[in-house]
Amino acid sequence: MRVAIFGTGYVGLVTGTCLAEVGHDVFCVDIDQAKVDGLNRGVIPIYEPGLEAMVKANHAAGRLRFTTDAAQAIGHGEIVFIAVGTPPDEDGSADLQYVLAVARTIGRHIQRPTVVVGKSTVPVGTADKVKAAIAGELEARGAAIAFDVVSNPEFLKEGDAVNDCMRPDRIVIGSDNPEAVEKLRRLYAPFNRNHERIVAMDVRSAELTKYAANAMLATKISFMNEIANIAERVGADIEHVRHGIGSDPRIGWHFIYPGAGYGGSCFPKDVQALARTAHQYRYEARLLNAVEAVNDAQKGHLFELIQRHYDLGEDEGVRGKTFAVWGLAFKPNTDDMREASSRRLLAQLWEAGARVRAYDPEAGEEARRIFGERDDLIFCDSATTAVQGADALAVVTEWKQFRSPDFGQLKSALKDAVVFDGRNLYEPSEVEAAGIAYYGIGRGRSL
Ligand code: NAD
Repeated sequence: MRVAIFGTGYVGLVTGTCLAEVGHDVFCVDIDQAKVDGLNRGVIPIYEPGLEAMVKANHAAGRLRFTTDAAQAIGHGEIVFIAVGTPPDEDGSADLQYVLAVARTIGRHIQRPTVVVGKSTVPVGTADKVKAAIAGELEARGAAIAFDVVSNPEFLKEGDAVNDCMRPDRIVIGSDNPEAVEKLRRLYAPFNRNHERIVAMDVRSAELTKYAANAMLATKISFMNEIANIAERVGADIEHVRHGIGSDPRIGWHFIYPGAGYGGSCFPKDVQALARTAHQYRYEARLLNAVEAVNDAQKGHLFELIQRHYDLGEDEGVRGKTFAVWGLAFKPNTDDMREASSRRLLAQLWEAGARVRAYDPEAGEEARRIFGERDDLIFCDSATTAVQGADALAVVTEWKQFRSPDFGQLKSALKDAVVFDGRNLYEPSEVEAAGIAYYGIGRGRSL
């Protein structure tokens, strides 16, 4: 089938590439000329495992094309996806300016019946706004062309996006028109072979499903962080507690890891946007507000542990200390640093007069773009280099390569021999056996 996709970010590029991979003929459109030029030269703007080879193969095969020419792409697509960003507005609600700009562009250029598919995460009722924007442009043109607006939220995870897209848990399709649903069924048939993954529903339910999924995941994380904070105070170890509850199938093992808070482009903004929607409908989403508040506090927790350690010692505190920081991305296997916990920690360390030696396997370039050149930040090319000459180590992202360091070497590298483990990667007794002081999240025994 012929497909056009607006937005070549994490969602648009991965979706377009996976659709091309199964044989569809895809045009990806972006307003960012440099990004499109790069993609046409084989430069992939984001890091996602497996993506680069797939983009190159499908581009070479002529099934995946990149353009800034919206009219050309809309002329090509019988199905047109909207996969542009929906960043938070000042009040936390989703900013729909990019989505509605694409809708107007579609209205200006469609020439034949088209299914418009909303993939961006948007508040309930947005499909109606998209429909109105397209209809407004058609009316201005004096054109009468049939079109549908379908909600097809995306559930891929950054860091495993290609895999999620090729083997989705479910494909949610929200539409009031069975013909539009049928068209998407055909599009997704190659991803829906061994068992039924399509969950068809009305548009508003589909829009809300996406927020419900992210809000549930964020809630699990904040819940565990809350229990971790209690564990820390009562002298219990959250890792024992986690094992003790995860075995209950009603709770399960997934997403119950305490840590330095969730980040990324989705959970923070989606929890806030859903709470905002509720508020607009005169319902105060107390739980969602608490999930957000717990997370916000949790992002500062690693620094609290650092302060606690240095205030307890004979030292004059954090000022003048150098911290090795392992991990800058908001989670492993991505270079994305949007809302990453590392950003809060670095800001707090700098504010307190400390210096940072940072290492991340993929996010170094993004971090350079964000922080620029500063005297109190050195980018290192390995985890080992980062700890050389540092006083202490803080682990912020749970990249696999950080999981089994040589604690003997760490002990000799770190002047103050102390590790602040923001993702509970290490066994406290093992670290302490090497003569290193250990702080984790919710590990009451270490206080
Ligand atoms: P992104 O910021 O990585 O990419 C958005 C792209 O859209 C950019 O390349 C931008 O240049 C382009 N764009 C903006 N206006 C445009 C226009 N008028 N025409 C063409 N292109 C335009 O965003 P993302 O992370 O891919 O997220 C996109 C949407 O998907 C958001 O609503 C997000 O909430 C949702 N989502 C994201 C993820 C994720 O893990 N990143 C997962 C599920 C859903």
